[in-house]
Parts: sequence; C-alpha cells; structure tokens
Amino acid sequence: MQPIRLFGDPVLRTPAEPVVDFDKELRRLVADLTDTMRDEGGAGLAAPQLGVGLRVFTFDVDDVVGHLINPVLEFPDDEEQDGPEGCLSIPGLYFDTKRRMNVVAQGFNEYGDPVRLVGTGLMSRCVQHETDHLDGVLFVDRLDRAARKTALREIRAAEWYDPAAPPPVKVSPHGLRGIFG
Ligand SMILES: [Zn+2]
Repeated sequence: MQPIRLFGDPVLRTPAEPVVDFDKELRRLVADLTDTMRDEGGAGLAAPQLGVGLRVFTFDVDDVVGHLINPVLEFPDDEEQDGPEGCLSIPGLYFDTKRRMNVVAQGFNEYGDPVRLVGTGLMSRCVQHETDHLDGVLFVDRLDRAARKTALREIRAAEWYDPAAPPPVKVSPHGLRGIFG
C-alpha cells in the first residue's frame, strides 16, 4: 500500500498520461487504487494521488465500485449541483463546490474494453473530481476567489500540510546584475 500524496506534492499538479498498455501492471494499479480508496473510506481515488501519472481512477459511490481509464466526459445538460466536497489529498477539509449534476463518461476498463458510465448527483461529482485529478486540477481550484482564499488558508494551517517546495527566493534584476557581473 502506498501513501496518498497530499496537497503541495507536485505530482498532483502534473497532467497524467493516457494509458497505452492494458497489461498486468495496469491491473495491479487498479487493484492498488481500489484497496487504498476502500481503506481510506474515499468515494474515489485517482492514480496521481498514489504518485502514478496515468489517466486511471477508481470510484465507490452508493456501493457501486469500479474504475475508469482514459475518461472523456460529456455533460448532457446544464443542470448544476452545489454541496460539500472533500479530497483524500486534502484530508479533513470540506468546501461547497459547484459541479454539473449529470455526466456521461466514456473510457475503458482494465482489459481495454470500452465502457460508458452515466452518473448523476454524487457519482457525477465523483467522476468530475477524479477526472480533474488526471488534469492536475484540485477541487479547491473550482471555488470562487473568496472561498478559495479561505480554503487555502485552512489548508496551510492544517496539521498535515508540509510545504514540500518552498517558493523560490526572488532575485531582483539589480541583484542578478550583481551576481553575474
Ligand atoms: Zn481528490
């Protein structure tokens, strides 16, 4: 079992690559994601959250457990939903997040067979959240400016938060001239 990568880890900000080989290794990844998701009590888990840059996620919503590979989302209507959302990579924090109410996701299963997933409500929210992970997007990015500011403040104050990559020290142009003569 691998640890879940937390907010601040650059892998969560890196767009994942499409799966090309539907092999044993991929099925091992799907099993790892499923086990970890269930252990942590998550509604979904995306491969980048385990440090793997592939377009794969698992879901467990209302006792429907599955996975989707190389997902492409379509929205059949404009209906929206607004409600609390959380993320295993941002543990313990929940923020109301607007999402589309209905989604149709096309993709593949672990054997490379095409699959189609029609989701509404929580399932739709989960599919959008996990597909965002594959694009390096986190749910706090979806909040409006004021809510995002609050969320980021709470994240930075969280016990688990570790600024892995401190911001680089800014060097003024004058300073640069000094350094390079
Ligand atoms: Zn998440």
